[in-house]
This record gives sequence, structure tokens and C-alpha cells, in this order.
Amino acid sequence: MTGGGTGLGLAIARRLAEKGYDLVLASRSAEHLEAGARSLEPLGRTVLRIPTDVREPLAVERMVDEVRAQLGRLDVLVNNAAGNFVVPAERLTPNGWRAVVGIVLDGTFYCCRAAFPLLRAAPAPSIVNITASYAWLAGPGTVHSAAAKAGVLSLTRTLAVEWAPHRIRVNAVAPGPIRTEGTDRQLWSDAGLRERIAAGIPLGRFGAPEDVARAVEFLVDPGAQYITGEVLTVDGGQWLGRGVMSLLAEDPRPGAGPGEGTN
Ligand code: NAP
Repeated sequence: MTGGGTGLGLAIARRLAEKGYDLVLASRSAEHLEAGARSLEPLGRTVLRIPTDVREPLAVERMVDEVRAQLGRLDVLVNNAAGNFVVPAERLTPNGWRAVVGIVLDGTFYCCRAAFPLLRAAPAPSIVNITASYAWLAGPGTVHSAAAKAGVLSLTRTLAVEWAPHRIRVNAVAPGPIRTEGTDRQLWSDAGLRERIAAGIPLGRFGAPEDVARAVEFLVDPGAQYITGEVLTVDGGQWLGRGVMSLLAEDPRPGAGPGEGTN
């Protein structure tokens, strides 16, 4: 699991530990890894913490070597690490672009590539890449992240086909707006904004990290053994609810909204 000490990664790690998996948490900050791992240890599974910057191919190779040495096997790889910040595209510096694309797209590829030999030897191997619904929507203000997540989607489908002969399933989970400590602080700290966002989600609420963790659990489960190259969207219907007609249908003003005979 890349990331894994914070946010959705920690929730996914917890779910997988509850299912009986031993875990490897790999991110940059030893502090994040330690805090996350300590919170998981009561579940009774092994939790390795391997400080790793996924932008560095050699660091990723070393991380996988450590997994081989300490656990001897790898059944599931979850590419969850990401970075993001909001900036108009015309003000995004080449360094900012490279940082985000480097973590999200390069990092996902480096981890898949390095993990391949161990995964190929596992009985029912699978990879789950965490993308985002803005991979296929526009992501104004986050062109770096949107482009990188779209790349991860393409990588997911391509590897699903290329590695199917090795029985490695490759799927993606695409969260919509999920409340975590980080997103509450950085994206929607304002309660009014949170209300407006929730009102635009057909299921009427933000997602919770556990919603995403359940989707990952499903995709790695033996029950999903015939599913590969798929993207499971976990967004309360948000991206489907963006059409003009859904706004008209919701408009409470008398006479507004689609009446009989409209099409
Ligand atoms: P988060 O808590 O910031 O998680 C990102 C993780 O990536 C952190 O644990 C961070 O750990 C790690 N990371 C960052 N740079 C790294 C690097 N260079 N090398 C290795 N690890 C690195 O945010 P989150 O909301 O849980 O996001 C988790 C995933 O869900 C991401 O892929 C994100 O794009 C996706 N997602 C989230 C939402 C949402 O609403 N929350 C929506 C759509 C998609 P360190 O700081 O220790 O490196």
C-alpha cells in the first residue's frame, strides 16, 4: 500500500487487516507511517513501515526488496499515494506539474513494475489503483492531478490486458468527494461550502473513507476474480448527477422543471 499512514489509505489498510492481510505501508513521512501503523497493530497483523518516495524508481525497488526479504510474498498492491493542490493552470509551474504527475502517474507505474515479479508468484494477485472521478471529468484548478489520474486509468486498463496472462488483475477505484482530516482542512473547511457540495451529490452526503475501503475490499476479494480493467466509482452518484436535466428536475419553483410533454 502506498500512502497508508493517513486518510483513505489508512482506512483501506484497516479494512484489509481486518480481512487478515499483513500490511506494508510505504510513504515519505516516517511519522505518518508510525502513527498509522500503531493504530492498526491492535488488529493483530504484521504492519511494515517502509519510508519511500514513489517518485524515485530506486527507492521503490528497495521497498519491494524489503517486502520480499521480510514477508516473502505480495498478494495485493494498492497504489494510493498522491499529492494535489489547487492552482489555475496558467500559474502552475513545471515543478508543480512534475511533483504531482511524478507521485500519481510515475509512482503508480514504478510500483506496478517493481511489484510484478512478486505479484506473479502469488496465488491470486491483484492491483488496485486509486484514481478519481475527475480523471474523466474536467478538473479545473487541478490540471496536473486530473491529467495524472486519467493516465492512471489508462495504465490500469492497459496492464489489466497485458498482465492477464500472468493472472494479475488490475482495477481502479475512483472516489468522488470523501471527507478526511486532510480534505476537510485543505478543500472544504467552510461548512457552507460542504453543504453546497453535499446538496449536489445525488445520495446527499460526502463519502467516508470506509466507503472507499469497502470498494477496494470487493475488488481484491476472490468473489471479483473475473473482474479486471474495471473502475469502480465511489461518489454517491455525483458525476452522473451533473446533467442540466437533473438540476431542472430538482428545481422547486412552481412551473419549473420538466413537465408533461417535455423531452
Ligand atoms: P492523503 O491523506 O493526503 O493521502 C495521500 C498519501 O500519499 C499520504 O499518506 C502521503 O504520505 C502519500 N504520499 C504523498 N506523496 C508521496 C510520495 N512522493 N511517495 C509516497 N507517498 C506519498 O489524501 P487522501 O484524501 O487520503 O487521498 C488518498 C487517495 O485518494 C489519493 O490517491 C487521492 O488522489 C484519492 N482521492 C481522494 C479523494 C478525497 O476526496 N479524499 C477524492 C478522489 C481521489 P506521506 O506524506 O507520508 O508521503
